[in-house]
Amino acid sequence: MATVNTTSQDERKAHSAPCSNRDFDFFYEGLEAQKLLVQKCTSCGKLRNPPGPCCAHCRSFGWTEFELRGTGAVFSYTVHHHPPLPGFRVPHSVAIVEMDEGVRMVGAMDGDHDGLHIGARVGIEFLRRGEVAGFRFRLE
Ligand code: ZN
Repeated sequence: MATVNTTSQDERKAHSAPCSNRDFDFFYEGLEAQKLLVQKCTSCGKLRNPPGPCCAHCRSFGWTEFELRGTGAVFSYTVHHHPPLPGFRVPHSVAIVEMDEGVRMVGAMDGDHDGLHIGARVGIEFLRRGEVAGFRFRLE
């Protein structure tokens, strides 16, 4: 059963991911369980990403977790050449993906750039970078 959350989450323990905060904790906890989660407004039902305390559509503070299937189409992308980043070979691509549920997500692509274009179908794979669970997109 889904848990309804509100922004009064001060009691929640911050996730150990370096860039997490009380808005992102559920997202990183989802990655630990190999689930790609976004917020779903409990008032109007809109999905939103990146996580935030309030629905931009109806201003409600109520939300619940929603698991995406992990498939979508490339909305835009860029190829990163410099500087080198830990855990990535350069060049590597970063894409904005229109997920099949209608919400957009930013994520690194796997190393293969051949066939990458706007509209390309992608899926996700879960991975770990040290202590932190993550995901990346790969061409289908
Ligand atoms: Zn809403």
